[in-house]
Amino acid sequence: MAEKLQTRCVIAGGGPAGIMTGYLLARAGVPVIVLEKHADFFRDFRGDTIHPSTLELMYELGLLEEFLKQPHQELRELRAVINAQTVPIADFTKLSTRCKFIAFMPQWDFLNFLSTHGKEFPSFRLLMQHEVVDLLFEYQRVVGVRVKTPGGELEIHADLIIGADGRHSIIQACAGLKRQDFGVPIDVLWMRIPKRQDDPQQSLGFFQQGKLLVLLDRGDYWQCGFVIPKGGFDDIKARRLQQFQNDIVGFAGFLRDRVAELDDWSKIKLLTVQINRLRDWCRDGLLCIGDSAHAMSPAGGVGINLAIQDAVATANLLAGKLRTGPVSVDDLRKVQARREWPTRLIQAMQVFIHRRVVTGRTSDPRASLPFVFRLLKWFPVLRQIPARFIGIGPRPEHVHSSSAI
Ligand SMILES: Cc1cc2nc3c(=O)[nH]c(=O)nc-3n(C[C@H](O)[C@H](O)[C@H](O)COP(=O)(O)OP(=O)(O)OC[C@H]3O[C@@H](n4cnc5c(N)ncnc54)[C@H](O)[C@@H]3O)c2cc1C
Repeated sequence: MAEKLQTRCVIAGGGPAGIMTGYLLARAGVPVIVLEKHADFFRDFRGDTIHPSTLELMYELGLLEEFLKQPHQELRELRAVINAQTVPIADFTKLSTRCKFIAFMPQWDFLNFLSTHGKEFPSFRLLMQHEVVDLLFEYQRVVGVRVKTPGGELEIHADLIIGADGRHSIIQACAGLKRQDFGVPIDVLWMRIPKRQDDPQQSLGFFQQGKLLVLLDRGDYWQCGFVIPKGGFDDIKARRLQQFQNDIVGFAGFLRDRVAELDDWSKIKLLTVQINRLRDWCRDGLLCIGDSAHAMSPAGGVGINLAIQDAVATANLLAGKLRTGPVSVDDLRKVQARREWPTRLIQAMQVFIHRRVVTGRTSDPRASLPFVFRLLKWFPVLRQIPARFIGIGPRPEHVHSSSAI
């Protein structure tokens, strides 16, 4: 017989969406259990960007000062190198937020920070090494989850199940929620290359002949993203490692003296880029948020921010009712209604970027800058537009859920 637990809200997944939702619901006095299948948060690179709008939320929660004491880097301007010309793309220094920069912080540090503070609330429980393997139903209503734990199987019954289990969500599959996939013509190879004192100081994107290399400054190393045509990794491997190293040097010559440290394909990780969205984010007793409701491409580095915004909207709309009892499907639909159009807008922009900017289309390397980049170079004020879109995003959320402490 599986052990049984009962609570108000169960969240599957301890990523940015799950931990933030758990934190906010517990802060509002809702009994909540967050289930994370891994033993810790320390995993492969999954994006490190904490955007100005997320930093604003940390301020609203009274956590900003302590948060910024964690090791991080601050990016105030986004620059691209296009056909060997450096172009400032986004200027975050004019944003109306308290923090006028993107903070780069390893995602595991961010999640450790937030979950440690979550544990200060008596109704917050985080169970690591607890993997949701199935949903429990009573007629058409979802009433709980079946969980695999190191100590055996567990059933947790709750008034609301939140799927925050990322882009390979078991919750959306078990709930039978229909998904719409948008074709993406690219994949990304991620790797680390050591950083040296005399390297450029800022994170950079190198565009060249329709190809893209992104270098994210992580203090003592560069986190590199190399965009390839979808499904093209096997062809790249067939051309041997040295050719791949040469490709990287072709973008960023200053890496020539250390690119040979990428001496094994195991140091290069493939991200199969997806963009998709659920038609319905909820059904009776269940709501999906974050990547589980809408998988994002890494373009613009907005996935974490969007997951956090979903979490805030969920707590704003549901915490009050959840404190005293269950929520209806109509309540759950309000979360989708609030967050769907910002998601659609950002995904449409990502699809546009993939199709028009980084699809592997060749161009003349001597070609002058595309017109839109010339405008950004000539008129600094225009750099505030991408800064706002990336740094704050459409329909930024603010914390309205109450604090029970
Ligand atoms: C290589 C890579 C680079 C990226 N770069 C960026 C970037 O620079 N900036 C950015 O903003 N976004 C980036 N993203 C996207 C970003 O990581 C996601 O959009 C964001 O993490 C979504 O948050 P989430 O909480 O919805 O899901 P996730 O972060 O995927 O979290 C889901 C959690 O659920 C857990 N889980 C899964 N299944 C179960 C289960 N059955 N039971 C219990 N737990 C489960 C997982 O272990 C995970 O911890 C990147 C993604 C990848 C893969």
